[in-house]
Amino acid sequence: MNNTHYEAKDGIAVIRLDNPPVNGLSHALRSGIVADVKRAEADAAVSAIVLIGSDKAFSGGADIREFGTAAAGAEPTLHSVINLIETSSKPVIAAIGGACMGGGLELALGCHFRVSVPGAQIALPEVKIGLLPGGGGTQRLPRLIGLEPALNMIVSGNTVPSDLLRFTPLFDHFIEGDLLAGAIAFAKQVVAEKRPLKRVRDLKVTHPRPAAFFMFVRNAVGAVSKNYPAPLKCVDAVEAALTKPFEEGMKAERDLFANLYVGEESRALRHLFLSERKASKVEGVSPDVKPRAIQSVGIIGAGTMGAGIAINFLLAGIPTVILETKQEALDRGVKHINDFFESRVKKGKMKADKAKTLAALLKPTLSYDDFANVDMAIEAVFETMAVKKTVFETLDRVCKSGAILASNTSTLDLNKIAAFTKRPQDVVGMHFFSPANVMKLLEVIRGAKTADDVLVTIMQVAKKIKKTAVISGVCDGFIGNRMIAGYSGEAVKMLEEGATVQQIDGALEKFGMAMGPFRMGDLAGNDIGWSIRKGISAEHPEYQWPSAARLADKLCEQGRFGQKTGSGWYRYEKGGRAALADPAVDALVEAHRKEHGLTARKISSTEIVQRCIFALVNEGARILEEGIAQRASDIDIIYIFGYGFPPYRGGPMLYADALGLPSVQRAIEGFARNDQSAQSVWRPAPLLATLAAEGKTFN
Ligand code: NAD
Repeated sequence: MNNTHYEAKDGIAVIRLDNPPVNGLSHALRSGIVADVKRAEADAAVSAIVLIGSDKAFSGGADIREFGTAAAGAEPTLHSVINLIETSSKPVIAAIGGACMGGGLELALGCHFRVSVPGAQIALPEVKIGLLPGGGGTQRLPRLIGLEPALNMIVSGNTVPSDLLRFTPLFDHFIEGDLLAGAIAFAKQVVAEKRPLKRVRDLKVTHPRPAAFFMFVRNAVGAVSKNYPAPLKCVDAVEAALTKPFEEGMKAERDLFANLYVGEESRALRHLFLSERKASKVEGVSPDVKPRAIQSVGIIGAGTMGAGIAINFLLAGIPTVILETKQEALDRGVKHINDFFESRVKKGKMKADKAKTLAALLKPTLSYDDFANVDMAIEAVFETMAVKKTVFETLDRVCKSGAILASNTSTLDLNKIAAFTKRPQDVVGMHFFSPANVMKLLEVIRGAKTADDVLVTIMQVAKKIKKTAVISGVCDGFIGNRMIAGYSGEAVKMLEEGATVQQIDGALEKFGMAMGPFRMGDLAGNDIGWSIRKGISAEHPEYQWPSAARLADKLCEQGRFGQKTGSGWYRYEKGGRAALADPAVDALVEAHRKEHGLTARKISSTEIVQRCIFALVNEGARILEEGIAQRASDIDIIYIFGYGFPPYRGGPMLYADALGLPSVQRAIEGFARNDQSAQSVWRPAPLLATLAAEGKTFN
């Protein structure tokens, strides 16, 4: 199969790329282009060639389904295809509509002429997966549009609308009507006027003061790219377009690309890119399962989470009802939502009339009568089973048959909540993260009886509200919070053992975490963990807490809940968010050590990072083994999108894979020897031991 269609008429050969969804440059597509170009070359009746894609995409670049397979590098490679086109004796015109990205743009740059229409999206996004354009993009784009604009596109990876590029040399002609008809007419004009073939490789890049320019660029790019090597390598490659002849520049690009490709950062970012796509697939569900239609949503509770969740749906243009028990609470929630839209307008991020239209999709109510017709209800009320029971019994009574009933609970048993209704198959967890309109992560909790079409619907809804959704089974804390318990627990234990709050946060922030565990606790509220511990103690009075848990309790007993109370593990100036060291905390820790007869010892940064991160890995392995997570990469996604894990390390599971599971296993065994308490997080997960022994990895 060749994935192209060929048609020659009136002297013009049209090669249509046809590899849905976005004309990824698969081996079959590349082979098809080569065969068709040769056919056109050989046909004396053909005097020009038009290369065109679908309405959706000229080409979105490499075919991700071929990543890591032999087909990706098999001849004809993208380089060979571009060479064939560029050296063709007949003019080749790229007709660009829809997405024209990565290898797709490089293919277009190999053509002699380019025409486009408004609304096409042009980009070289390789830097976003830790790479640089490797199909000649770094050499041809600067030659065509100039150093500075090319550098901007290559280093940022951002998409530029064709409309903004219409007066640049990227396009030889801009068409307001039908792309194909316009491209054919342009091709005929090129032939009639006997226009010389414009080979981008033959153009020269110039700059009046290249040395100063590149010094400035390197300073600027270096300052923002920190742990990511690709942006600076992009600069190196583009500089080669200026300083070297074309073929040497191409070699420099190839070498730089190869270098990045084998690096840890690009490996991690590629993993992230693929994992995000994988995460939306629900295992064990037939592809024939159709989602339910969601045209309206009802939210119960207009507090911190309810209001944030409502904003997501309003932004997606979905009519939303929001319910509270008291007018005052309802007004507060609605004000929060309106303030959000107002601030978007003030910041120039949204037109006033659009904000008005979207905000008007909200219907505040005190009555469940307004829930009779919603397609989906999302509960975000207080976190107690008794309140959830009332709400779900009511929803069961008032919502129409087939409506999805979702809970935003972060700690309660979803199966119990589902059992409050006579339709547990329609009940699902939607665990948003705070602030719900900002955080990209959504844990979708699959109850024992949740129907397949409900899950498929939620995954689709998640895309509509621009969330990255990951499926989790039912367990304490679901995937993310269950893993964080051991991570935070180890942090407090090391505090007890002799480290300081600043030292622990510093070590983990240097590792790349967006925030150390104590700064995170202060932000989320230390009282959350305190109340969970109190709940567990009430239910299981026999449970033996480690002494470190007492230390965390004592902090809360002093009212130090975190930022919201002006103090926690740090202190905060009135209204400020900067975490300031607090001698009162050092004194609290010191007194605690005394009380428990603990002698402080020196703790290294390596130990801090290993104990916190390997606690995540060990629990992650257990979660995987229990089938709570569908795949290791889902855990990585949760940690990167929900917990500030550094993307360039690819998530805790990929990080462990990269270190080598046997060495992670050995370290965990060592920690287990030092902590044989009943609550130790270091009981090695059997899956980790098995994979390590078999020389395998999580991912
Ligand atoms: P919140 O206290 O800010 O808001 C809860 C709201 O629910 C209040 O406005 C309250 O008036 C309202 N409410 C209470 N009972 C009600 C009832 N019977 N009917 C209608 N409204 C009722 O709490 P929150 O932080 O928004 O948390 C809500 C839920 O989201 C909880 O289940 C919580 O575990 C979960 N959650 C919270 C976070 C977070 O970081 N805050 C993160 C994820 C999930």
